[in-house]
Amino acid sequence: MHERTTPAAQEGGSQWVAWNLDALDGEALRTAYRDVASFVDWLRACDIEVPACWYTHAWVVWRLAALSAWLEVAYIAETNPREAVDWWLVGLEPLRRDWADLQAHRGRHVPHDAPLDDPAPVPSLDDVVDVLVAGRPTEGPP
Ligand SMILES: [Zn+2]
Repeated sequence: MHERTTPAAQEGGSQWVAWNLDALDGEALRTAYRDVASFVDWLRACDIEVPACWYTHAWVVWRLAALSAWLEVAYIAETNPREAVDWWLVGLEPLRRDWADLQAHRGRHVPHDAPLDDPAPVPSLDDVVDVLVAGRPTEGPP
């Protein structure tokens, strides 16, 4: 299994969960993306074909983050095995269907500002995360 390094959401009260990527910034956001990337590596090791450009599609990242968190509880000893079956059939399978069209991207996108251009390689995961982190400055003192 992949390792999750994202700290759990703060205990007590109605805190955001760790797989709510909008609630994260700075190093926490980088860590969350690294965790999802680790999860993607694990999926690929399980022969699940994940689109090369997964990290550029926010809806895919969000669903992967939630699935990763769900996997952690689907396979713990106290869980009914039905939870694991649901993880595969209710969690992963619909995502595989929904991202089927993204497989054709093969890690390349047509630039948004030049729709008639040939597809170009998508930026690296690190570059995408750098842009996201820069767009969410961490809260400093007032
Ligand atoms: Zn794509």
